[in-house]
Amino acid sequence: MVTFEQAKALADLIGSDHVIFPDSPDYHARRKVWNGMIDRHPALIVRPATAAQVSAVVTAAARSGIPLAVRCGGHSFPGFSTCDDGIVLDLTRMNQITVDPEARIAEVGGGALLGDLDRAGAPHGLVTPAGLVSHTGAGGLTLGGGMGWTSRRLGLTIDSLLAVELVTAEGRVIEVSNDSDPDLFWGLRGGGGNFGIVTKFRFRMHRLGPITVGVWSYPPDRAVQALNSLAAASDVAPRSQTTVALTTLSGVHVTAFHSGDDGMGASSTAPFGHLAGPGEGGLVATDYVTLQSRGDDRICWGRRYYGRGGFLAKPDGAIAETIAELARSAPTPDSEIYMIQLGGAVSDVAEDATAYSGRGGGFYWIVQPIWDDPADDARCLDWGRKGGARLAALSQAGNYLNEQGETGRDVALQAYGAAKFERLTRLKARMDPGNLFRLNQNIAPAPGLTPA
Ligand SMILES: Cc1cc2nc3c(=O)[nH]c(=O)nc-3n(C[C@H](O)[C@H](O)[C@H](O)COP(=O)(O)OP(=O)(O)OC[C@H]3O[C@@H](n4cnc5c(N)ncnc54)[C@H](O)[C@@H]3O)c2cc1C
Repeated sequence: MVTFEQAKALADLIGSDHVIFPDSPDYHARRKVWNGMIDRHPALIVRPATAAQVSAVVTAAARSGIPLAVRCGGHSFPGFSTCDDGIVLDLTRMNQITVDPEARIAEVGGGALLGDLDRAGAPHGLVTPAGLVSHTGAGGLTLGGGMGWTSRRLGLTIDSLLAVELVTAEGRVIEVSNDSDPDLFWGLRGGGGNFGIVTKFRFRMHRLGPITVGVWSYPPDRAVQALNSLAAASDVAPRSQTTVALTTLSGVHVTAFHSGDDGMGASSTAPFGHLAGPGEGGLVATDYVTLQSRGDDRICWGRRYYGRGGFLAKPDGAIAETIAELARSAPTPDSEIYMIQLGGAVSDVAEDATAYSGRGGGFYWIVQPIWDDPADDARCLDWGRKGGARLAALSQAGNYLNEQGETGRDVALQAYGAAKFERLTRLKARMDPGNLFRLNQNIAPAPGLTPA
């Protein structure tokens, strides 16, 4: 338990408004996270504004021995960013972003959301590749990898990461880059929150260029044909183009996105409008920031979620049949099998260059039940788990740990593979031997692979 003296010292340092106890008026609003399945009651929620304050919280947590949860956007599927009876270190006040448009560099606070990042780049026509939902945290997304509309052209979010300011388990504030500590910088790019708390990210930004967006739907009886054609059309799509497909009870809903100056927007998106006869829909006039918040309401805070995902070569043949079959048995209308095409710049980076694992994946998929009524928990979880297992059996090596509802050593070991997992455990032993940062897809600080 945090002692009264420790809590008072934090309140004196951070400001009493920003140290929230269970009897504080905004405790219940502040303890909530994105996934409505997660309902935890921390002893204390602390909202620092500087790296020095983060360091003080880390030191207090390490001394007290109570659990420490680190929160940016609050979007962890299994609810890693909160806990019962521990400290939640809520970074959301640290959401400042500065963009240097000449150097094409963004300095991003460890508590910023993707919408903050997109809005900061937009006036300059610049982007850092990241996710598709604006209320997702840049913190958790980046440390796991980060994939989105521009990833085939520009890489994962971590491929644009230049350096971070990190608060270590000892409370030191250090700058980490490939030059200063290549092993730690390797682990931070895909190893999640295991190695410290990032209070600032420095990203390279890129010229977005004009965008073309097409949105088309195909009914359930044409789902298999649409997925097979999507696989074929994706095979020949330029890397300036990517596609997201949601397969649900109501069919296959495809968004084709193109960006950049190669002049291929119309020609590369067009095939996705004729995947199984003409799709219903067409090109939509939008800008990037608006597109990035298109899914915000459907996949909003407080609904109930589960996810299990993996990488596929392409969604054709038996995989298309399986996806269509799963969608026909979806437990609610919003439940989905989500897929995004990857490859391109993501696969240009060597598999062992970063901790992120699965750069060879042609597509990333996630089986995601979405529901509202707790009475539906069992059947929605069952659909997500069994459906995820069926697609996993058809999938490639590696996994994206940022979007997994399941947790535990075997989940991490399967995702990273034995060699990377061992390297990560050694890095963890150096950076966090006491496993202070354990509320995450945890890498236990053991030097070997012997199960505990
Ligand atoms: C609606 C939704 C849409 C998504 N879309 C995409 C997408 O398009 N592309 C994609 O790649 N991923 C996507 N994801 C997955 C997303 O990357 C993960 O859920 C990620 O963990 C979210 O980060 P967060 O900061 O919001 O989460 P939080 O729950 O706040 O944090 C999760 C964990 O990350 C760590 N963490 C967070 N911030 C820091 C920090 N500053 N320093 C150290 N550790 C930190 C902590 O261990 C924490 O427990 C999506 C998730 C959701 C829920």
